[in-house]
Amino acid sequence: MTTAKEKRFPLPLSSVVERKDNAGRNRIATSVSTQTAMQNLGRDTNSTPRTNPVSAWNSTKEQKPVVLNTSDSPLVSEAVRRAMVARVAQQGVKDTTVLEALRTIPRHLFLESGLESQAYIDASLPIGHHQTISQPYIVARMLEILRNDVKLDKVLEIGTGCGYQAAVLSLIAKEVYSIERIKALHELAKNNLRPMRIANIRLHYGDGMLGLPQAAPFDGIILAAAGMEVPQALLVQLKVGGRLIAPVGGRHQVLQLIERVSEHEWSSAVVENCHFVPLHSGVV
Ligand code: SAH
Repeated sequence: MTTAKEKRFPLPLSSVVERKDNAGRNRIATSVSTQTAMQNLGRDTNSTPRTNPVSAWNSTKEQKPVVLNTSDSPLVSEAVRRAMVARVAQQGVKDTTVLEALRTIPRHLFLESGLESQAYIDASLPIGHHQTISQPYIVARMLEILRNDVKLDKVLEIGTGCGYQAAVLSLIAKEVYSIERIKALHELAKNNLRPMRIANIRLHYGDGMLGLPQAAPFDGIILAAAGMEVPQALLVQLKVGGRLIAPVGGRHQVLQLIERVSEHEWSSAVVENCHFVPLHSGVV
């Protein structure tokens, strides 16, 4: 563990020490679930006919196909959402608060009509501007780690995208702040969230790498895009005892958990492999 006595403050991420498990190994999961954001980026978002119900196989062979006819009743979307949550749970997510939140938020309402029918496949999907809505499994996994079985007060999300994860977060945290750097997506998230009348989400247009000092400190910070390291500004906006979860890397990415142990001390652990769109600085 690194202390401020040894290092310049604030600590660069490279100085944050990997957490070991009981056997003294770095905590790197052996089972890998890789998000498919990049593969999905190239897809034509207009290629799926709106009226045609799509039957799609999840990547795991033993799982059943998911069928969602977007013209069907809310009960149908509820049923396919339950099935999605069951698959997420099968993959090892145990936190019932997170699973319940995933079951509650209608993911299909965050997608354009041509993709609605695929909303409950466990995959990331294009939302325009070369960005994706995150895969339900990875959303649930990250939120489970962020929550750590405690009620979260104030949470910051970097990368609002279409607003889906912010909506899920709103059910597990008291206050949600979310930043998006692409103006058109910031507007899209506003439009998607407005009819849901969620009172505890604050959307910001800006560069999330700078965090949100005016609202800091946060109990939890979650990044939906991968940088080569976690921006230092975010580390210092964490409460002592707070957690940050972020994809880190380029072609090869890992999910990294950082905890602020004390005023001048952070610890870090690698959770598992993942695949996210890149974190960029500045706004567009
Ligand atoms: N949270 C979304 C995922 C969006 S994809 C969901 O619910 O599915 C990641 C998003 O991060 C993209 O919209 C991208 O524009 C945004 N992003 C990348 N770098 C950023 C930065 N520095 N600040 C804010 N947003 C950023």
